[in-house]
Amino acid sequence: MLVIKNLHVSVFDTPILKGVDLEVNAGEVHAIMGPNGSGKSTLSNVIAGRDGYEVTEGSIEYMGSDVTELEADERACEGIFLAFQYPVEIPGVSNMAMLKAAINSKRKYHGEDEISAGDFLKLIREKADLVEMKQEFLKRSVNEGFSGGEKKRNEILQMAMLEPKLALLDETDSGLDIDALKVVSKGVNALRSPDRAMVLVTHYQRLLDYIVPDHVHVLANGRIVKSGDKSLALELEEKGYGWIDGLQKAG
Ligand code: ADP
Ligand code: MG
Ligand code: MG
Repeated sequence: MLVIKNLHVSVFDTPILKGVDLEVNAGEVHAIMGPNGSGKSTLSNVIAGRDGYEVTEGSIEYMGSDVTELEADERACEGIFLAFQYPVEIPGVSNMAMLKAAINSKRKYHGEDEISAGDFLKLIREKADLVEMKQEFLKRSVNEGFSGGEKKRNEILQMAMLEPKLALLDETDSGLDIDALKVVSKGVNALRSPDRAMVLVTHYQRLLDYIVPDHVHVLANGRIVKSGDKSLALELEEKGYGWIDGLQKAG
């Protein structure tokens, strides 16, 4: 589903990613871990096509074609979803209106009719239940005045509504208390499916107690320096990242 080869990315002419290789197949859940500032958000943002990132070398192939030239909204319509590390507030636009617009623009892109009011209500009720979100949050402005945990739940609600093929979750666990973490994990686990892939960016091992990844990668200094299975996450929890940095310096 996703094949990244030798990806180099700069922000304001500063190289951030320096040769990332990553392959994610349908049905798989990958965790990207790594120290602060190692480029995890840059990687998820550049896959989603956010502005401000310049691909200077390498390629991002998604569903068999190179998407590096596609705009973020086109990638979203093609099924790539990004849950932000810092979800944005949109005063004056209700959560419901935003979700309906997002669903309809995706349908339009694929030449489909708009979703009916009845189908939309049914869908949103079902998905709000999944993330244990009260109905009143659907009528409020997007993320405005939401707590950190509520914003993260809202990101999972958006993902559930949009049913992406490739979901990128950037530090969905940060700022969550244990109850909210469980709710978010439940939502993510409910969306695991053989035709969907997920990439979880996380700084800590904690999230991976609830969402068990198939593969774990360590990003350090703009490159994936180590890959393994879920046991790698436990090892990192125990030993930190220093030993890997050490490996790198030793070549
Ligand atoms: P992580 O998510 O792993 O903490 P980031 O991808 O956010 O790391 O950042 C990687 C590096 O790129 C950091 O040194 C950060 O300061 C820099 N960086 C990221 N985005 C920008 C930006 N918009 N402008 C300037 N520097 C940035
Ligand atoms: Mg960070
Ligand atoms: Mg980050």
